[in-house]
Amino acid sequence: MKYKRVLIKLSGEGLANKVKSLAIDYELVEKFALQLQKIVKAGIEVAIVVGGGNFWRGTSAAKNGIPRVRADYIGMLATTMNALALQSGFEAKKLKCRVLSSLTMDPKVCEVYVNEKASKYMSDGEIVIFAGGTGRAYFTTDTAATLFASEVDCQAILMGKNNTNGVYDDDPKTNRNAKKYDTITYDEILKKNLKIMDQTAVSMARDNGLDVIVFDINEENALFRAINGDIPCTIIKK
Ligand code: UDP
Repeated sequence: MKYKRVLIKLSGEGLANKVKSLAIDYELVEKFALQLQKIVKAGIEVAIVVGGGNFWRGTSAAKNGIPRVRADYIGMLATTMNALALQSGFEAKKLKCRVLSSLTMDPKVCEVYVNEKASKYMSDGEIVIFAGGTGRAYFTTDTAATLFASEVDCQAILMGKNNTNGVYDDDPKTNRNAKKYDTITYDEILKKNLKIMDQTAVSMARDNGLDVIVFDINEENALFRAINGDIPCTIIKK
């Protein structure tokens, strides 16, 4: 395996099942759990950051008159709901899993994030889900992913996407000749303003030497194959 400790970024919107009007697609969570079983068995240590876009996005709510900071706190709570749902789905498949929140929550709901605790759980083979994003408004869960990956010393972020399998030089939906990169540097992403993750997240990943692997989350066994470097993807490097 290429990496020993990884962080998986799951988008909130990708967790929904639009056909069945479900905020959380339980079959999808089960599929993730089955892949995680293999990943944990292979000795890979796993953290997860989950978004909240299936329930709430701060920027959209702010457009409808909710003050932005409050709207963002609601978004952070949405990520916590997703984290708890994932935890349940994973535990149902006998995976050991903890939810650690950036926001101080009642301990009956989940634990509060403490760096050493997160690292210890991961070393012990438990999956750690970071809830509540960075805990601050005006950030995104992409930035939370690079922040936590840096804090707990992951070598790579697996960025599973729903609508693409990598980074392209133009939008492949509107330009049939758009070219996919096998690898690309952070500086090129910033210079060309390629919108694969937000710019704060890109700079932080660059400054902390993380690899980001962008791939299609809907591919068979996507998570396991992405760690192995055995999936169509783009690797973003320093
Ligand atoms: N959010 C925030 N600070 C963070 C992370 C998230 O305020 O550090 C809020 C923000 O309102 C955002 C929402 O939580 O719109 C959901 O997160 P995000 O949009 O990143 O989720 P995703 O797009 O991955 O589903």
